Amino acid sequence: MMMHAVPVKHLNTFGIDATAREIVAAGSEMDLLARWQEAQEKALPVLLLGGGSNVLFLEDFAGMLLLNRIMGISVTEDEKFWHIHAGAGEDWHGLVSFTLDRGMAGLENLAMIPGRTGSAPIQNIGAYGVEVESVCEYVDLLELNSGVKKRLSAAECCFGYRDSIFKRDYRDGYAIVAVGFILSKSWHPVLTYGELTRLDSERVTPREIFDTVCAMRRAKLPDPAIVGNAGSFFKNPLVSAETARNLLRKYPDAPHYPQPTGEVKLAAGWLIDQCAMKGFRYGAAAVHEKQALVLINRGQATGGDIAVLARHVRRQVAEKFQVWLEPEVRFIAAQGEVDAVEVLS
Ligand SMILES: Cc1cc2nc3c(=O)[nH]c(=O)nc-3n(C[C@H](O)[C@H](O)[C@H](O)COP(=O)(O)OP(=O)(O)OC[C@H]3O[C@@H](n4cnc5c(N)ncnc54)[C@H](O)[C@@H]3O)c2cc1C
Repeated sequence: MMMHAVPVKHLNTFGIDATAREIVAAGSEMDLLARWQEAQEKALPVLLLGGGSNVLFLEDFAGMLLLNRIMGISVTEDEKFWHIHAGAGEDWHGLVSFTLDRGMAGLENLAMIPGRTGSAPIQNIGAYGVEVESVCEYVDLLELNSGVKKRLSAAECCFGYRDSIFKRDYRDGYAIVAVGFILSKSWHPVLTYGELTRLDSERVTPREIFDTVCAMRRAKLPDPAIVGNAGSFFKNPLVSAETARNLLRKYPDAPHYPQPTGEVKLAAGWLIDQCAMKGFRYGAAAVHEKQALVLINRGQATGGDIAVLARHVRRQVAEKFQVWLEPEVRFIAAQGEVDAVEVLS
């Protein structure tokens, strides 16, 4: 499948109306390598894309958008664990449903996160007290120049909060082609957030958690099919214990989560909300009225509009709290990814 100067609006959940020079889908590793080679011959930059739910197109992309559509799920088991091997192109929520339908628990807190399975380890997706690192066994990676395949163990992925080695050492010239998950047969519910805290840990089922998570997400987050967005635009900032103490002296109600490292995680949504920015608009770009952490495209916003709004939000928060927010969303310019913090500085 190949097209020319094609709109990418339907391929990014922000619904930004940009274009790419070419869009191709790869259903196998051979396809990926062939397309990569083709792009090298044409001297085109390549951007790998899954569901486009964590990217912001700042302008038209002057290269090949390579959609990773490697499918397939297989399951093996031993006495204690299920081992699930999933192609990078599998829909993430589809995988969560697949496992639950077959009585394999462990992914239920991560229901309804948009995107493809291959992207899940990249920012170590997380929600409602669970991050992918706690269920990831390995990640299969293809070096596109050489065709060499590597399997990284979970430890080698260097997972952190919305972070992994795939944002650094294995960012350019590598494709994630499959992810291995390990789900324990002795299941323990994670009920630390929101409505989940009301559930009875002795009697709750994985399905109830799944349903509760889906209901909370439907109630709180705008559906990208209706309002363009990429979920949380900024990461929750990690600050030093001293910065947190100073902030809490002035704002005792500020949500804060001490980390094992000694740092303290603050709630970016709360910080933005304190700047009275819910519903704030810049053209067709806006801060969501209920979720301050979500920036939305009200229709015809360009990537530039969203970036202007994000810069403003970031400055307001820094002025009030001396904390600089960092985007969670990846910024894409004409030649590929650019440093989002630099763009907003
Ligand atoms: C409504 C909404 C809610 C969300 N909620 C959450 C949430 O609760 N928790 C959370 O963590 N995230 C959340 N997100 C963010 C997003 O869903 C995740 O980051 C998701 O993993 C992105 O998957 P994707 O396939 O869409 O990635 P894409 O946006 O397609 O790609 C993201 C990055 O990964 C690269 N990439 C993609 N595929 C590959 C590959 N196979 N190999 C190498 N690089 C690749 C891309 O080049 C890009 O830099 C939300 C987003 C939305 C829109």
